[in-house]
Amino acid sequence: MRRVLVAGNWKMHGSKTMVRSLLEGLLAGSSADGNADLAVFPSFPYLSLAQSILADSHIQWGGQTLNPNPQGAHTGETSGSMLNDMGCHYVLVGHSERRAIYGESNADVALRFSAALDAGLKPVLCVGETREERESEQTEAVVAGQLDAVISSFGIDSFKHATIAYEPVWAIGTGLTATPQQAQHVHAFIRDKLSSLNGIMGSQIQILYGGSVNGSNAAELFAQSDIDGGLVGGASLTAEDFLAIYTAAG
Ligand code: PEP
Repeated sequence: MRRVLVAGNWKMHGSKTMVRSLLEGLLAGSSADGNADLAVFPSFPYLSLAQSILADSHIQWGGQTLNPNPQGAHTGETSGSMLNDMGCHYVLVGHSERRAIYGESNADVALRFSAALDAGLKPVLCVGETREERESEQTEAVVAGQLDAVISSFGIDSFKHATIAYEPVWAIGTGLTATPQQAQHVHAFIRDKLSSLNGIMGSQIQILYGGSVNGSNAAELFAQSDIDGGLVGGASLTAEDFLAIYTAAG
């Protein structure tokens, strides 16, 4: 039985005051006995604060990216072992903003995926197509290529301790959401692809949907058979909006 995860990607938002009040709101409005798990992805400077507030709670936290190298002369970068040291359970890899704005290729993303596993973190591998790619019917080829970059370098078994987030780029931060049917179609494609290489892996891997998820559309998305929760950007920045999604998952 796959668990549902509702994960909040805070991107480059927040302050100490905001992080404290948001996390206290989430702790008050959720429980370890719920049907869904909760996780947050603060910016690096706030991981320590998240760790101190969330330690021993039911809410997990993670980094928004990591450098593929274990240590060294990489000014401004953060390694997987540093995230582990901050108590992170997860790390996002290959978010579309990292791919589009910071030029991370499929090969770069695969190295980060592997570095996350080496550091004892659970990578959340983000995949998804642009609007142009969808309109030219390239969605499956694009997503397959993003998965294959990891599979060809590190093998299908590397997904054993990973989560996947299908995030159509055209739906991120735009208010446009994939219909439940559109999302389910791609989630089933991802699961079938992994299942064809390792049946148990395919059936067990958690696949989140991301792209303008909110309290009104979450229940229908999460009701799809291959959607195991959501990666949420804008609506994860207030406890009220994020908890509405958490409630919809339960
Ligand atoms: C995201 O950044 O991963 C995301 C899904 O953002 P939003 O929910 O704002 O579309």
